[in-house]
Amino acid sequence: MSETKKSYHRRKLGNQLLKPETLMMSYGYDPKFSEGSVTIPVFQTSTFVFPSAQAGKDYFDLATGRREANSGEECGLIYSRLNNPDLQVLEERLAIWDDSEKVLAFSSGMAAISTTILTFCRPGDVIVYSHPIYGGTEHLIEEVLPEMNIKSVAFTAGCSDDDIKAAVEKAKGMGRLAMILAETPANPTNKLVNLKLLDQLADQAEVETGHKPVVAVDNTFLGPLWQRPLDHGVDLVLYSLTKYVGGHSDLVGGAVSGPDELMSQVAGMRMMLGSMMDPHTSWLVMRSMETLKIRMEASTRTARTVAEFLRDHPKVTNVHYLGFMKKDDPQYDIYDEQCGSAGSTFAFEVKGGEAGAFRFLDNLKLAKLAVSLGGTETLISHPASTTHSVVDPEVRADIGITESLVRISIGLEHADDLIADLTRGLDAV
Ligand SMILES: *Cc1c(COP(=O)(O)O)cnc(C)c1O
Repeated sequence: MSETKKSYHRRKLGNQLLKPETLMMSYGYDPKFSEGSVTIPVFQTSTFVFPSAQAGKDYFDLATGRREANSGEECGLIYSRLNNPDLQVLEERLAIWDDSEKVLAFSSGMAAISTTILTFCRPGDVIVYSHPIYGGTEHLIEEVLPEMNIKSVAFTAGCSDDDIKAAVEKAKGMGRLAMILAETPANPTNKLVNLKLLDQLADQAEVETGHKPVVAVDNTFLGPLWQRPLDHGVDLVLYSLTKYVGGHSDLVGGAVSGPDELMSQVAGMRMMLGSMMDPHTSWLVMRSMETLKIRMEASTRTARTVAEFLRDHPKVTNVHYLGFMKKDDPQYDIYDEQCGSAGSTFAFEVKGGEAGAFRFLDNLKLAKLAVSLGGTETLISHPASTTHSVVDPEVRADIGITESLVRISIGLEHADDLIADLTRGLDAV
């Protein structure tokens, strides 16, 4: 993380600028308010007592926008759909990782994505989005939003700049371009989308149409450790906290990160939809964030070792691991610019089509056969028959999701044990 650029958060101890991992154990919480408790308690309450009738009035005037906040003033605690200490401290800590002005946490990644879309899109609007995108997001855009007369145009992650420009042009001809939404790296093919280009196209659309589309990026895959879309001109960053940030396959959550000006609109919509994260899950995510860096560093290291093993195995082809990208690859510059590391989720093909892939998967004993990713345990899945089974077969072929493709999310096991397990699976093919 660059320490020279402006930081939105108070992070100094004396002259020492504290790093995000240091702040995860303390930021935003003062033990003196909770009987000296070292860790923040779970504020398992629906509502909060006002110190006085006047205070209640003041809080509501602020929460409903009838008055501006005084400098440094935060809205007093009212009701847990609006604010709760666990939710707020979690959001402040997550904002440190992204170095963003504001984060809002949600009950799931889909709650974050749907609330954001409903904040900025209205009937007659058009969304441009990258393919492949998370299945829930795709269903929302392709099946649900059209019923509200919100249309879309897709482009394929990894396509040429001209193809992306053509998608934006087409969208502008269909209605008001309200949002450009990308997932990069794409799941499961690890193809990248050039974020600076999306920013430029949004600016250009504003000049031409008078309306600036919101550029949003789903950053679930590389997480705040390895990719910071806000540094590349993106307006909003979306997360499924269920994956790397939660990191233990024991919770479902989501977040949106960005500048106050946009986030206050998302906050208003979240308050009405009630899609916020609950206090206990917020507490769990805070606990997870204390180890976020060491978890992501460890799984990323192991992923390289495993990817190298798979690349050299005779029964494996096409290891879509970002760390193997060659300097002459047309996407190399994007990788170099946007990604701090190759991450630890990647896909590869097992010889023998679906039958080969299934024999491999059914003979693993350590890697767990499950959808999802980013947990402490290694998870492995077959996208064509599960997460991507509803994608049109032609589109699936086009974006590289073959019957042979397997996706693996590396956890915290020892690389030797994982390699022994994968060898066992491949021996059965
Ligand atoms: C899992 C996931 C989502 C959805 O998140 P939930 O927490 O399951 O609602 C969105 N985007 C990506 C990239 C994901 O992997």
